[in-house]
Amino acid sequence: MSPPSLIDTHPNLSDAAPVALSYELFPPRSPAAAESLWNTIRELETTEPDYVSVTYGASGSNRDTAVELINRLLMETTLRPLAHLTCVGNTPEELAEIIGELLDTGVRGILALRGDKPKDGAEPAPGSLRYAQDLIELIRRVEQRRSALLCAGKIAVGVAAYPTRHPESPSEAHDVEVLLAKQRSGADFAITQVFFHTEQYADLITRARRAGVTIPIVPGVMPLTSLRRVTRLGELSGVEPAPELLERLAAADSDAERLRIGVRATVDLANAALEAGAPGIHLYTFNEHQSALEVLDKLALPRHSRSASRRNAIARRQLAS
Ligand code: FAD
Repeated sequence: MSPPSLIDTHPNLSDAAPVALSYELFPPRSPAAAESLWNTIRELETTEPDYVSVTYGASGSNRDTAVELINRLLMETTLRPLAHLTCVGNTPEELAEIIGELLDTGVRGILALRGDKPKDGAEPAPGSLRYAQDLIELIRRVEQRRSALLCAGKIAVGVAAYPTRHPESPSEAHDVEVLLAKQRSGADFAITQVFFHTEQYADLITRARRAGVTIPIVPGVMPLTSLRRVTRLGELSGVEPAPELLERLAAADSDAERLRIGVRATVDLANAALEAGAPGIHLYTFNEHQSALEVLDKLALPRHSRSASRRNAIARRQLAS
């Protein structure tokens, strides 16, 4: 029998890790939207998130604005971007070029997604990748080719996970099999689709762990503070919010009341997920900071405190902007 390693016997290494905090942003579609987004980015920066994710249109429809936003985040803020990348409709060659461009920009985290199929039901172009799993393998191949350039940080690859059945999937069990396949192909972590019932995150974790999924699964929560957002959410994800939440939002007679309802529901979801052992909280922001900041205020996350030099960097950037 070999003696226990120093690491196994070290008492402090079993302490719980700090809870990660992250936000989702999408690239702006107009100059006015860009101005409002940058106001939001400055507000969110003060909360010192571990990363901010930047969405990517299926088939690369907003490639330039996504790369531009990521570039500015890297150059002008203290934030670390997690670049979403979709593969539907793109060939491996096209995707390898985009991955290279992201790495050259300084990106070290990619959320590998399939993306939604075209709404007209057209089949993706021949030769384009079919599943997120293919994209993970491609990212790992590009990473391998560039390993000497990545000595100061390899790529963290994230994937999507589904607390409720993916609309095209035959069952929740199939979704977990797909998640396991994505882990085997090299995924490091997963972020969940939005969900609105407190037990759904814990149920996903139970099913995933039983199937052999070991990667961190971060719950994605969205403050629903208006019925307009509900419509947009349905278009984007096919997820139906809880009927009680919709009824309460519909009955509310002011924006302030709707904000209070949406924030309360999100705090309840996040607390339930944290009780189930969630390693972080990912907030879908809709490029607005008010509800995200209120959720954070009420959550009291056990967070690590950043170094004074990082806080000073944030303060300097705010003075300069
Ligand atoms: P996949 O994991 O490839 O799954 C797609 C479907 O194929 C599923 O039904 C799955 O069951 C099935 N499947 C997968 N592999 C196999 C296989 N080997 N055999 C048989 N069936 C299989 N969309 C965007 O366009 N841009 C974004 O920026 C974006 N960001 C997102 C962020 C998060 C956190 C989440 C949860 C979703 C995001 N989406 C985004 C939406 C996502 O693109 C859609 O949900 C899409 O329909 C599926 O993507 P996926 O990566 O889960 O695909």
